[in-house]
Amino acid sequence: MDESASRREPKIGTGVRSRSRLGSTLIAATAVAVALVTGYQLTNQITESFRVSALATSRPAPPAVDVAPPVDPIEELQLEVQSGDTLDSLFRATSLSTVDLAEIMQLDVARKYLRVLRPGDVLVVRHDGGAILQLDRELDIRTKLEVQRDGAVFQASVIEMPLERRIVMAAGQIRSSLFEAAQTARVSEKLIMNVAQIFAYDIDFVRDIGAGDEFAVVYEELWRDGVKLGEGDVLAAEFMNRGARFTAIRYQNADDRSSYYTHDGQPMRKAFVRAPLSFTRISSGFNPARRHPILNTIRAHQGVDYAAPKGTPVKASGDGRVIFRGWKGGYGNTIILQHGGNVTTLYGHLSKFGGRGYGSRVQQGDVIGYVGATGLATAPHLHYEYRKNGVHLDPRTVILPNAEPLRGQVLTAFRASAKPLLQRLEGRTSMLAANRPNPAIGAQ
Ligand SMILES: [Zn+2]
Repeated sequence: MDESASRREPKIGTGVRSRSRLGSTLIAATAVAVALVTGYQLTNQITESFRVSALATSRPAPPAVDVAPPVDPIEELQLEVQSGDTLDSLFRATSLSTVDLAEIMQLDVARKYLRVLRPGDVLVVRHDGGAILQLDRELDIRTKLEVQRDGAVFQASVIEMPLERRIVMAAGQIRSSLFEAAQTARVSEKLIMNVAQIFAYDIDFVRDIGAGDEFAVVYEELWRDGVKLGEGDVLAAEFMNRGARFTAIRYQNADDRSSYYTHDGQPMRKAFVRAPLSFTRISSGFNPARRHPILNTIRAHQGVDYAAPKGTPVKASGDGRVIFRGWKGGYGNTIILQHGGNVTTLYGHLSKFGGRGYGSRVQQGDVIGYVGATGLATAPHLHYEYRKNGVHLDPRTVILPNAEPLRGQVLTAFRASAKPLLQRLEGRTSMLAANRPNPAIGAQ
């Protein structure tokens, strides 16, 4: 692969840096200074102070005509974009060929990925006395733009950069909130959200998470050149919720799609999620003593209430069709969805509606409205009902039909791939006991 990436120096400070380029900058600045000194008959002392101040600026002075050639003409520059920089200004400031730049910008791919620069972006340029040999720009952790000289012309392409995937495990126990537990386990917010998503069909993360709940997650970390770049997929996860244990294992199907399954091959995904609200930091904390007494009377009005700030997005709990969208007495602004299996769901007290109107189809997770306090509501909350054949059921505990489980040879293959992951999850107890949240337990 590309060698320039590994030769890249760590980014520190500001402006344009390069050891050998700094050498020629010094020469250039001195040359300018000397020219000025000669012109204005200044003393040596002033010449010296001018030279120092010229060096102290992060942006080198324009090159003088008689710049001495660098010892090693082929060098690599890291150009870190500052606010207000353009490619043109960066090239001029570092004496790179603007003629080459103009040619590079003739290439569609190069133009597409170089047109917009953001402060903090880094361009890596290899050049020979200002003539461009190669220009790289990282686009994300997986890809980069690579422009290379090919004889008299330039070639530009977007290439995939190799990533090292390390499989690691983290485990945590909840004391005050899931986010707090994730932080203690050194697991990112994004990763714990992914875990919550996987179990959203079994666990109501907005209301039913409690102290003592535990989680364990086996996931990929993405590394390159000894630097951790981010997190990849969750490979397996476990959640202990109020004594009940849920396990999910990722499996790549024949069509290359990956889904999560229980240890015996039942899909985690179901027709309905338990909570029709985004599990967010705001709603994640729980403190039974502070729970609104009126909002806790599930039996009294045959629904579940989710206290949440006004404007929190409300999501369709399952695929369905809008059969009511309007004002409905004490419910205020209300949406009712019709689902398969003669199930309807109702969302009340909305501050406003989202998505499309009466009769339109919605998919699980589509935003259909926003939390409010319209109708008979003392505080902003979502009133949510689940009915089957017209009978109210508690959406948090209703038994949901499973989609097709894995069978036959696929199930056999799944079991084989699940085994080592399940074994890793077994380490949860000892990991929590050892109070060592996130050690790497192996590399792949
Ligand atoms: Zn209610």
